[in-house]
Amino acid sequence: MKVPFLDLQALSAEVADDVIERWKIIIEQSDFVLGGEVARFEEEFAAYCNCKHAIGVASGLDALKLILRAMDIGTGDEVITAANSFIATALAITSVGADPVLVDMADKDFLINVQDLENAITPNTKAIIPVHLYGQAADMDPIVELARKHGLKVIEDAAQAHGALYKGHKCGTLGDAAAFSFYPGKNLGAFGDGGAVTTNDPELAEKIMSFRNYGSPRRYHHELLGENSRLDTVQAAVLSIKLPRLDEWNVARRSIASRYAEGLESVAGLRLPVTNANAEHVHHLYVVRAEKRDELLTLLQERDIGCNIHYPIPIHLQEAYAFKGWKAGDFPEAEKAAGEILSLPIFPTMTDDQVDYVVEAVGGFFTQ
Ligand SMILES: *Cc1c(COP(=O)(O)O)cnc(C)c1O
Repeated sequence: MKVPFLDLQALSAEVADDVIERWKIIIEQSDFVLGGEVARFEEEFAAYCNCKHAIGVASGLDALKLILRAMDIGTGDEVITAANSFIATALAITSVGADPVLVDMADKDFLINVQDLENAITPNTKAIIPVHLYGQAADMDPIVELARKHGLKVIEDAAQAHGALYKGHKCGTLGDAAAFSFYPGKNLGAFGDGGAVTTNDPELAEKIMSFRNYGSPRRYHHELLGENSRLDTVQAAVLSIKLPRLDEWNVARRSIASRYAEGLESVAGLRLPVTNANAEHVHHLYVVRAEKRDELLTLLQERDIGCNIHYPIPIHLQEAYAFKGWKAGDFPEAEKAAGEILSLPIFPTMTDDQVDYVVEAVGGFFTQ
């Protein structure tokens, strides 16, 4: 048997006919930039998230950047985020001229350690970006409370958390604004790059709509120093077709996660991901921990099982951030996790047999 890490082809095939039909119409109309499909998807995605505004942009990174810009966060400002996120979270902060301040993760759930947050706040802090890593919501109530106390904005990085819930509320509605990515491998993925901002703040929404389109509410009238960061019409069409299936796909991911948990919970030496009582996890990734991670990875590769490490190097140890002077030991939990984490295959069309094959291979490694 062969188990890919992610079977994107199977997922694309499910919607291919509908997409081709819709793309034919778009090509006939040649309505390629901020066409009707974009407005339609924005409305649908806002409704799905139970929020007032969704604005389609070019990527998840841009969604974060545009939120920061619209909040007037830039040079001289500090923004707090997690040390163990994908690099984009920190890059967004750096790219607007602000200074990323990192906080370690909690050992129990890979999410930003709320206990450490307050210590990271200085008079220059303007915002916190909690990351709903791997598909599980960060503990938002204490984060928002702390932010309110210090007059800070809260920006959710929801790039891995489409449809995830926190205390029954959708990720994307828990702070002042949220950034989503529609990179193909995300729980809701386009046929290329894409992203969205969600917010209940009409002024912020208006500013981001303007920023993404050359700062121009009206053609050739430029009120802001904008950029070109629009969600493509052809991608909006794909997302519109896929969105009605997202919940079903997330349910499939959860049932795969449960099957993994059943099969692997008694394996000594292996730590399984934990779902917090306040969260409904959407398992963008299924991340286990093992001290003998590298040997386990090698064995799974030999058995034709696709695995990955998200992420092998925490942000503070990335070469691109050498100028910050961060060093090994600064965020010990993130560093320890980076050496132990392994993402097992998880995707909506994964069969029980495939899950069982992975379970058997992983279990076998620890009992050999
Ligand atoms: C994917 C991702 C992003 C960036 O999204 P892109 O669409 O690739 O720019 C940001 N943050 C997290 C946590 C991600 O997983």
